[in-house]
Amino acid sequence: RNRMSLITCSNLSFSYENQTVVSSLNFQVNEGDYLCIVGENGTGKTTLIRGLLGLKRPSFGSLVFGEGLRSTQIGYVPQQDAVQKDFPASVYEVVLSGCLNSRGLLPGYSAAQKKRAGENLELLGIADLKNRSFQELSGGQRQRVLLARSLCAAERLLLLDEPTTGLDPLAIDEFYELMDVLNRKHHMTLIMVSHAIREAVEHADHILHLSQDGSFFGTTQEYENSGFGRRFLGEEETGR
Ligand code: ADP
Repeated sequence: RNRMSLITCSNLSFSYENQTVVSSLNFQVNEGDYLCIVGENGTGKTTLIRGLLGLKRPSFGSLVFGEGLRSTQIGYVPQQDAVQKDFPASVYEVVLSGCLNSRGLLPGYSAAQKKRAGENLELLGIADLKNRSFQELSGGQRQRVLLARSLCAAERLLLLDEPTTGLDPLAIDEFYELMDVLNRKHHMTLIMVSHAIREAVEHADHILHLSQDGSFFGTTQEYENSGFGRRFLGEEETGR
């Protein structure tokens, strides 16, 4: 399998009113990669996500999509606490609404889109919840629904923002297993923002670590062997 480049960032920087909050990032995402973006609060992870989604312009450097990737092919899974939990719709309706992007101006959904929504419900093991109301689900179930929804929107790349926030430990384990299946079996490219460095190192194949004093990008192994990785992994172990 020839691994195509999907995203290339060179000297990428972002700022708010002349204050630089992300500076000179260099990293690349290839098709099939599983990248975790880690770092403490305030290091610019959300800003970078907004940049990747085309919602914020770089103040310097470049962010280039390769191989015909369009921003509409990026499925975004928002933070749980950013989601309206009392959304009055069925699971199926929420998942199907992921197809809105590709629906164009025609009313209703096509047979192909309905088929796809059904397939994604199966894929995430929530087909039996199809007619349930979104608001009565558990946190873990709701997240699967949002994932199925984003898979309807995205064909190539999933961007997840702190996806395990608010989930119980069992649901977190199940979530990481699911990500492994999506990445390895379904060749979905994953970019996940997380503050859980341990889990990131255990599951992702690339790490982008943002910090106040510089950043690191490389394979997980390179990260673990780097002074940078050792420092942060060590800090976690000693329960800092
Ligand atoms: P993270 O997601 O890693 O917590 P953010 O991207 O949210 O980091 O924030 C990075 C820095 O940018 C922080 O210092 C934050 O205060 C600042 N910031 C974020 N959003 C804005 C904004 N809309 N206007 C001004 N400053 C912002």
